[in-house]
This record gives sequence, structure tokens and C-alpha cells, in this order.
Amino acid sequence: MAFDVVIRGGTVVDGTGAPPVRADIGIKGERITAVGDIPQSADASVKTVNAAGLHVSPGFIDVHSHADAALLNDGQHVSGIRQGVTTEIISPDGLTLAPLSAENYRMYRWYLSGILGFAPENLDMSSIEASRKNYHHKTSCNVATFAGHGPIRLEAAGMNDVPLTGDRLTAAKNLLRESFEQGAVGFATGLSYYPNSWSDTEELCALMEVAREFDRPMSIHLRNHNGDRAFGGGGVPEAIEIARRTGTELHFEHYRTSTRNAGLVERLMEPIDRAKSEGVDITLETYPYPVGSSFPQAFFPGYFHEGGPEQMLDTLNDSKKRTELISRMSEISYTTPEGNVWTHIGEGGDKDFEGWLFEDVAGEWGVSVEEMMCRMMAETSLACGMRVAPPGNISQWRQVEEDIMQLMARPDYMVGSDSIPVGGMPHPRAYGCFARMVGRLRRRHGYPLEQVVQRMTENPAKRFNLTGRGVITEGNFADLVIFDERNINDRSTFEDPAVHPEGVPYVLVNGKIAVENDAVTGILAGKAIP
Ligand SMILES: [Zn+2]
Repeated sequence: MAFDVVIRGGTVVDGTGAPPVRADIGIKGERITAVGDIPQSADASVKTVNAAGLHVSPGFIDVHSHADAALLNDGQHVSGIRQGVTTEIISPDGLTLAPLSAENYRMYRWYLSGILGFAPENLDMSSIEASRKNYHHKTSCNVATFAGHGPIRLEAAGMNDVPLTGDRLTAAKNLLRESFEQGAVGFATGLSYYPNSWSDTEELCALMEVAREFDRPMSIHLRNHNGDRAFGGGGVPEAIEIARRTGTELHFEHYRTSTRNAGLVERLMEPIDRAKSEGVDITLETYPYPVGSSFPQAFFPGYFHEGGPEQMLDTLNDSKKRTELISRMSEISYTTPEGNVWTHIGEGGDKDFEGWLFEDVAGEWGVSVEEMMCRMMAETSLACGMRVAPPGNISQWRQVEEDIMQLMARPDYMVGSDSIPVGGMPHPRAYGCFARMVGRLRRRHGYPLEQVVQRMTENPAKRFNLTGRGVITEGNFADLVIFDERNINDRSTFEDPAVHPEGVPYVLVNGKIAVENDAVTGILAGKAIP
């Protein structure tokens, strides 16, 4: 039998940016073995997928997914696979669960529960290799992972505000080296999160020296905390300085305009383009929404996080310490808690407040917004998450989306959903990111399909060295998505987020059919890659 599966009659958007062409695709085992006209076979055991009137592209690659724990809890991962995401890159922002000793795993799993939910309690996550085994052949999609700054710093220095120098730095570098040897696709850090934010620019440069040995990029969530420790005060200047000083590749996480600078794309990109013209190797990612999502810890200054969850709860439950904590929230001045909505309220808290604005919950309880946050974190033992409310002004919202599509036209962009698939009212990006971009936004703003697809497929595969993926060609893995380009759309909204997209009838992962007739098949053919 020449093929196991033949996809017939579709229009192939191959991922390279080339215009779509009519072609059949033959698959044998995990791989694409023919692209072109494939004669009808009399062999009844060949599975035929009828793609007439539909487009076939490489499966989408999500370069920013907080599904680390969600994938361990439910490998079906329907929120991603139904969008056509065949590879998730987990551990963005350096927030992840490996490599961690058993003790640090228990602590950091708890600390991150507001973003990741709770991963299984007893899991060997002591190395990237051990972590990969927990995902391999147990998920519907492929899983690639960054080496996360968080775990590496924890293993070297604990949940403490101490500099990584001397033996601690050596330990961190050794762990990072081992992580790259075991397949980590880059180094990821989020400098508004802990313990990452206790670093300074020197530490990040020292770690990126290791990344250079392996030719691996740094994926960075820019510093908003401890700016006094950073070159240029943090933000874009620090990120560029690290890449410049170490000669490494730089990848900016969720870099886009917001309601504050809507329409000002050129100004946003000015420092990036200047650095690129001076030789810094930069790529970027975005998701197609005007607001973000996180967990409440991000609003609190560094000292609060020291020691980890037990000490944090002690501070939250002690009225004197809590008053002091609230008075010092202004140290983190880049954003205010007003205008946020609870997405996830864990055990111990009142789930009815999921979807409520912070100020409305505070009003209900008759306390300040800050008090309310502290109380919610205490009641749920830190297992609570939030997102920003979208702009009330739709023209502002549309402007940010127009900016995003303009950014996506740049050849250095890709898509990171920043999906947080946790809680009853998650940010809709977890269910709709890719379909929204390929669907309504591409059509509304008139960008070519092959261009948008290239950003979601070949671009990330190249940047993160996902060999054999991201392009439809003979010999590559058969990670494929089949969609109706006229009707593909997200249906996940801010008020009703957990709804799957339409117009994505088939998804294949490693040659196996993961979605058929708009429903998951239950086949878990995903691998730990690369
Ligand atoms: Zn993120």
C-alpha cells in the first residue's frame, strides 16, 4: 500500500508563502510522501479525506502556550487542536515545571497555579528529558519546550532575591546546558514574574552565553519589575542589549500596540528596526486581541514572592503585613489592577465571581480593589487568574487589531496565543487565537492567506528548529490542518470563551487524524519534539 491516508482535492497552502495550488497529499506513516496528482487507488484500506473546496496547510505552531499543566491533565487538549494547532511550544515567560527537584516542583506548581492550573501532584519533572516523557504520545498535539528561567533560577538559588553569581551561576548554566542537550528549543524568561525578575542584565547575559553554544534564541517577556537592575531600565533596551552583547537571537513575546498607543505601529517598531539594522537577529510574536491575561501576583513587588507560597499566604493573612504590601504595590507602576476581570477562581474561593470586574467584586465586599485581590488570593491559596477587560470603544479595539495584522505582514512575526486554558472565564485566545487571525481578521483587512499561514507555520518552525515541520513537502511530518478559508472563524468571545471555532473540519498530527468532521477523534499522536 503506497499510502495510509490521501487528502484529495484540496488547495494546498504549503507554509512557505507561495500561492495556493490544487494538489492531493499522500501520507505514509508519520510523513508526507507525495504532493500532486495522486491517482485513485483500488486499495480500500487507504483512508481518503475529501478536501474539495477546502484549503490544506501545515498545522499551526503556537510559540507561546501556557498549556504546560493542561496538557498533562488532559492530553486531548481540545481548545488547541480544534483550532488546528499541531505543535504547542510550552514554558513561555520562563514559567514552567521543569527542570525541578521534587520539592521545588511542589512549590512552583503551587506558585504558578493561577496561570497553569494544577499539574498532577507526583510527577518526575527533574529534567527536560523527564518532562518530555510526560508528554510524549500522551497528547493530541506535538509539544516542544523552552528551558525556563524560573525553574533554572529556583534550582540554583531557591525562591530568593539573591544574585546568581559564583557557584549559583555555575549551577544555573550547567542546568541550562543540560536542558538544551535534552531538546529545549530556546531560553524563555518573563521579567515581570518570579523568581525571574530578581535577575539583572548581567545574569541574563551569562545565561545567554550558554544559549549561544547551542544557537538557541531567548524568548522574552519584557521587564516591568526591578527596572533598576536592568540595562536601560528594562523593557526593549535591556532585551536588545542582551542579544547584542552575547551575539544571540532574540524573540519578543506578545509585542503589539495596545489601547494606549493604538495606530502607532511605526513608533512601536522603531527600536526593533534600529537594532535589526545594526545586525541584531530579532523575531516577534503576537496574538490578535487588544488585551492580555495573567495572574494577580504580577501586581505585587518582589519581596512579597520571597520564600514562595507559604510565606506569601502568611503575608496575605496578616493584616499588618497585608497593609504594608498594598502600600508597596505602587512600586510596580506600569499598570493598575482596575479594569481586570477574574478568569479563574480556584478551590476555596467563590467561583461565581469568575467573569466579574475587580472593582465590582471589591464593591460587593465593601473593600478596596487591592484588599479584594489579597483576600481572593488568600481564599484560593493563590489559585486565581485574571485578564484585562476589552476596550469599551470598539473603534479603538478595531485599531489594535488592524495594527496586529499590519505587524503580521512583517516577515519577522509569528503567532503566540499566550493561551491560559484554565478556569471558567479564560481569555478567549485559548480557544480562538488562530482561527481569529486566519479567519475574520485576515478577511477584514485583506491580507493574503499564504502570508498569514506562513507566519503560523514555516516562520516558527525555522526560528525554533522544529525540523521537518511547518512546510508541506515530501518527507516532512504530516502535521496538517484542513479549513474553509471563506468560513473559518473563532467563536470564542470574552463573555463566552470556551467555544470552539468553525470552519476547521480536519486536523492531522504525525499522519494520524486528530480532528474529523469538526470533532476530536481521541487519537493522541503528538510527540515531544524536536
Ligand atoms: Zn505568557
